[in-house]
Amino acid sequence: MKYTAQELASMTNSRITGNKNEVVEQLIFDSRLIFSSKNNAFIALKTQKNNGSKYIKEAIEKGIKVIIADEIYESSGQDITWIITSDTQNFLRQLAHHHLQNLNIKTIGITGSNGKTIVKEWLYQCLWDEMRVVKSPKSYNSQIGLPLSILQANNDDELGIFEVGISKPHEMEKQSEVFSPQIGVFTHLGSAHSEYFENEEQLLNEKLKLFEKSEVIIYNGDHPLVKSKIQSLYSNKTLISYGLDTSNDILIESPIDQEEAFNIKVLDGHIQIPFTNRDQATLHNALAVIAVLNFLKITHSKIVEKINNLQAVEMRMESIKGERDNLIINDSYNLDLDSLKIALSTLNQYGNKSQKILVLTDIHDVKDHSEHLYHTVANLVNEHSLGKIYLIGTEITKFAHLFNSKTYSFDNIQELIEDQEFNSIENSLILLKGARKFELENLKKELELQSHDTVLEVNLNAILHNINVHRSFLKPETKMMAMVKAYSYGLGGYEIAEFLQHHNINYLGVAYADEGVDLRKNKVTLPIMVMNPELNSYDTIIDYQLEPEIYSFKVLDLFLKALRKKGIHERYPIHIKLETGMHRLGFRREDLDELLLKIKENNLRIASIFTHLSSADDPEEREYTLAQIDLYTNNSDYILARTEDKPLRHCLNSPGITNYTEYQFDMVRIGIGMIGYTTNPAIQPLLQSAVCFKTVITQISPLHPGESLGYNRRFKATNDTNIATIAVGYADGIPRLLSNGKGFVGIKGKLYPIQGNVCMDMLMVDIGNDPIEEGDDVIIFNGNPSLEKFAEYCQTIPYEVLTSVSRRVKRIYIKD
Ligand SMILES: *Cc1c(COP(=O)(O)O)cnc(C)c1O
Repeated sequence: MKYTAQELASMTNSRITGNKNEVVEQLIFDSRLIFSSKNNAFIALKTQKNNGSKYIKEAIEKGIKVIIADEIYESSGQDITWIITSDTQNFLRQLAHHHLQNLNIKTIGITGSNGKTIVKEWLYQCLWDEMRVVKSPKSYNSQIGLPLSILQANNDDELGIFEVGISKPHEMEKQSEVFSPQIGVFTHLGSAHSEYFENEEQLLNEKLKLFEKSEVIIYNGDHPLVKSKIQSLYSNKTLISYGLDTSNDILIESPIDQEEAFNIKVLDGHIQIPFTNRDQATLHNALAVIAVLNFLKITHSKIVEKINNLQAVEMRMESIKGERDNLIINDSYNLDLDSLKIALSTLNQYGNKSQKILVLTDIHDVKDHSEHLYHTVANLVNEHSLGKIYLIGTEITKFAHLFNSKTYSFDNIQELIEDQEFNSIENSLILLKGARKFELENLKKELELQSHDTVLEVNLNAILHNINVHRSFLKPETKMMAMVKAYSYGLGGYEIAEFLQHHNINYLGVAYADEGVDLRKNKVTLPIMVMNPELNSYDTIIDYQLEPEIYSFKVLDLFLKALRKKGIHERYPIHIKLETGMHRLGFRREDLDELLLKIKENNLRIASIFTHLSSADDPEEREYTLAQIDLYTNNSDYILARTEDKPLRHCLNSPGITNYTEYQFDMVRIGIGMIGYTTNPAIQPLLQSAVCFKTVITQISPLHPGESLGYNRRFKATNDTNIATIAVGYADGIPRLLSNGKGFVGIKGKLYPIQGNVCMDMLMVDIGNDPIEEGDDVIIFNGNPSLEKFAEYCQTIPYEVLTSVSRRVKRIYIKD
């Protein structure tokens, strides 16, 4: 888009003050994502969870000249153009609606419970070289994501492919105010969003409102309810159904389990496609794409070629520890302008490296003149302060002069891999962004820290999902402390904390001062509570602005001494721990008067008052837990009535959040729940597993009857069998307890017993005569076996399992 501020105001009936001629090409709603002020406007969106007006100051500091908000925030600069609207979300919708009307563009709108993003990405892959296509970035399909996606469309685009999602009743009405696609696609009806809907039918009715003005609806006809609803509601439109059922217009005629290519019936004949991946969801998604291409009159031979070339939509960006303290961000699954933009903007989330480096290849999947394309690319890249840029390919290197940073050119990846200077880069963040053809995987392998095949894979998206599940139980104003003690339960140090810092966590909790120092050194700025301040750590606590838990008079006196020694007079924040039933640490009622007196005399600030529940995960201990909470309420009330400070109150850990929600007070402390573990059967299905410990088979060898395995010959074969040796042992955190059939690992979804004694760096698994090969993946936990099951083998709880995975196991972080 490109409008003047005046035009933006007129299209949305908003008030405007300041320079009406400022040009706006992009709206930004997250102040962290402002890298350039040129022709960017900041929109202070109000959502249930957040109020963007908090960030106006930051936006102005970053040079933004146009602000869209619900009022003028007086304190800010002089030369700002304000566009004032009573409802910023509505502003966004109106603007997107008008923008779309100004364009001469064909539109496809995709909705459904699953498959929206894949179908959209696949359609894009199939159509980008037929016409100029704009699409929603990633899975931008929400009330905010849809209008923002539409605003990315420009005059010369010919087709817009947009996803439309809803999560609550009446949202589709608003979405369809913005956008009513000419071609509607309905992918799938499931229960994924059903918590706000009474039943499937209500959900379906809501979704189908999107198509009220569509000319054609292409839908999955295998679902009887979907089929009958669409047919009765929209009998006046062109309807095209696809699916496996024989009543569909577009369908697979061959039996699904046959080896050869499938025979697919389309509107005007038959085509043959050899699918390798034949799970139902994939077939449905592919049929949806075929149906759209067929409707758009793409020739049969082109459809076959395009479908054969579809790439798996891997939308994950991985960050991997590299050699020489580098951090590698690998996002080389696809390369187009949107994904480049997104990848560049995520670089900002990693603050602790000395410089940022970009490796970028020729861009293939974009239909544009290279001159124009690479000017756009260079402008995008130049918005970020990069230390060095490595350009790969014969096209992009012609435009090296357009990039502001120090730029190096190579024809292919191999040349780069061999480059000396590239190989001496240290302590940097390296973003790999390249088209498939360039095989950036090879570069990634070179850069990775030691190729150790054993990894603990941590899925940050799942952590965020789990936090949101827990948050959904809480009042919007309740704060959240994330417990990142013990290396975040074994998952990682600053990597996790830094991620949490970007996702609305208010406080962090660590066990020891050292853990807090590590976070501070890696630019974590959230307030951090230290639970076990050791005798000698008080100086450190003060130096690094950590906040101690005070659980006894002894600790209080030591801390006061440290403050005096440092000559600190401001009111230092402390956290008071109350003893209510753990019988571990904390103050009791009889201590409180003396405690309050000391705090007052020494001018400390009570930042919070808390206690810890012993059995929030145990339904049988409900009475005890309620008594703990009751005692906590009384004793914290007592303190509250006698202090001017407004301490936060908190007592719930993860199981507490779901099982004792009404006692959330001002804050909760989430720990294991982030990782996706709970003992509550009603909650478990809502959570996603955020961690997977896996390795590969190093070697397979036969074992004959009478032969023995490993140290002390603890296993002897009775039949002919095969033994897989895998490279994890007790030094990696696999207890020796699992030797000799006590523990199991997962290979290709099936469990196999560990036999012989677990060694320091290896263990052996009896795989019988199953078709398993060297190099196959082995799951230690999560998947099959689950974390819980594995903990059972180890005769312990998931907490201990996680914190026992040794530091030498490489942690890999996955995030969108
Ligand atoms: C570890 C810890 C938590 C988090 O407990 P989970 O069971 O992992 O949610 C909460 N509060 C305190 C004081 C803790 O030490």
